[in-house]
Amino acid sequence: MESQESGSLKEEPLMADCIFCQIVAGGIPAKTLYEDEHAIVFDDINPQARVHMLVIPKRHVVSLDDTHETDASLLGQLMVVCAKMARERGIAGSGYRVVANTGRGAGQSVFHLHFHVLGGRQFEWPPG
Ligand code: AMP
Repeated sequence: MESQESGSLKEEPLMADCIFCQIVAGGIPAKTLYEDEHAIVFDDINPQARVHMLVIPKRHVVSLDDTHETDASLLGQLMVVCAKMARERGIAGSGYRVVANTGRGAGQSVFHLHFHVLGGRQFEWPPG
């Protein structure tokens, strides 16, 4: 684990081998759509809908299963960002889906908490 030394991330722990931490640090390019003190939003590299964004905390959190009551504020902020981005990208009216795959069995492949925000197509229920 290493700490970024400048800017608002000064005290935020970043995992050197985490691809999303590397995006946060700017080491891996991503199509960043939004950024604030705690969160960053970028387009998914392998979109599963016309709009497919990832909303992530800048701090390394493995998954929802790695969160606790002390993370309630961060989680709330991330949800607000999901809704704001859905409105901004024009998918709020037609409906959109927010997904947090949690654990390998649920399809999580990147172990840095992220909310998929998908929209611009019809969705099935139950999900596959
Ligand atoms: P999950 O399978 O729920 O853990 O989601 C991980 C998501 O990260 C997948 O939808 C991938 O397409 C996406 N992804 C992986 N690497 C990148 C990257 N470098 N830039 C953007 N999205 C990525």
